[in-house]
Amino acid sequence: MTDAARDVVVAGGGPGGCAAALALRAHAPGLSVALVEASAYGGERVGETLPPPAADVLRHLGVWEAFAAQAHHPAYGTAAAWGTPVPYENDFLYHVRQVGWHLDRGAFDGMLADQAHARGVQVVRETRVLDAERAADGWRLSLSDGRELRARFLIDATGAGAALVRRRGGGRLVVHDRLAGFVRFFRQPAGGGTPHTLVEAFADGWWYTAPLPDGRRVVACMTDTDIARGLRLDEEAAWHALLAASAPRVSASLADAVQDGEPVVRAARSGWLDAAAGPDWIAVGDAASTFDPLSSQGILKALRSGIYAAYAAGDLLAKGDDAGMHRYRAFVQREFDGFLRTRARYYADEARWPEREFWRRRHASAAEPAHV
Ligand SMILES: Cc1cc2nc3c(=O)[nH]c(=O)nc-3n(C[C@H](O)[C@H](O)[C@H](O)COP(=O)(O)OP(=O)(O)OC[C@H]3O[C@@H](n4cnc5c(N)ncnc54)[C@H](O)[C@@H]3O)c2cc1C
Repeated sequence: MTDAARDVVVAGGGPGGCAAALALRAHAPGLSVALVEASAYGGERVGETLPPPAADVLRHLGVWEAFAAQAHHPAYGTAAAWGTPVPYENDFLYHVRQVGWHLDRGAFDGMLADQAHARGVQVVRETRVLDAERAADGWRLSLSDGRELRARFLIDATGAGAALVRRRGGGRLVVHDRLAGFVRFFRQPAGGGTPHTLVEAFADGWWYTAPLPDGRRVVACMTDTDIARGLRLDEEAAWHALLAASAPRVSASLADAVQDGEPVVRAARSGWLDAAAGPDWIAVGDAASTFDPLSSQGILKALRSGIYAAYAAGDLLAKGDDAGMHRYRAFVQREFDGFLRTRARYYADEARWPEREFWRRRHASAAEPAHV
């Protein structure tokens, strides 16, 4: 069965896709927009610390009241045992004395999709875009429920890898490392553990922990995939033994905590799509570029890129003006270059294990990126 054609289909309803759909409705209300999301926003979602400047972006998107009505926890900054075994507190490095949030990610992403629906976006949940093919009259997207959607323009917001547009020749993925997160969740009595996001470096990578609004705590070991294999991080006993041996501060934050839910492994490599937009598509959020989670910038960056992409796509479709599409491509590249410089400075601050492979890779200034 084929549905009526839309002007825009957004594939993926994370922060990037939802921001794009919301901003399109505000910027070019004459365009019809559908958003297709694979999940029902249940299950474990990784990435939970939202820095203070997100408040302005949420206001711009018109979702601040809905966000404030949710039960996300205030976050007052990051404590980092980085370059030294004694943690120092960061007050959100660039945003002193401002408050961020520890998010319930499922609730946050679901709220954004609800808001998009309320503004006239057709939101299709629990449905995966299996493939996107170009036909003479635009895109044909095959969905996991058997339907086909037609659209003039495709926004790929499916997250890291930009699978849909890359399958159709859109851009090459340039990756700079093999970082992955080996994540476990814990239930903890109220007031247990540190209220901050806590980062603790060790010889083969770094750990982080943060409290979650639902009485749980997330703990992740971040290292390169090949190093993780040697550490057997996918095995529960090895993960716990490494935590106890290498991260005393993160370990201590688990007082009285009981493991809860399934472990999650997520790629967390830094990379970008060397062309983040084509004549009839654009990639947003992690689909356009991924930042090392050390930056805690991924969600904010996804929201912003969704807004910029919506302006570019709206001008193209409503006015035939493609200047925004060119600006967007240049913006993604510039933003990623800036992130790489900050990342290099941050990793240079940890000099306790210069001979270890994880740190050696990050300190090597002229590391060649790989094309995937
Ligand atoms: C271990 C780890 C920790 C992190 N910690 C933080 C943090 O503390 N703070 C922070 O800001 N960022 C953090 N990040 C990064 C952050 O999670 C991402 O940058 C952010 O989620 C990107 O949003 P997005 O909308 O681009 O992609 P995603 O959040 O990945 O959303 C993509 C959406 O597309 C859907 N989807 C995928 N394929 C399809 C398909 N074919 N059809 C339909 N739907 C599809 C998915 O279900 C998902 O809802 C972390 C990342 C990792 C890996």
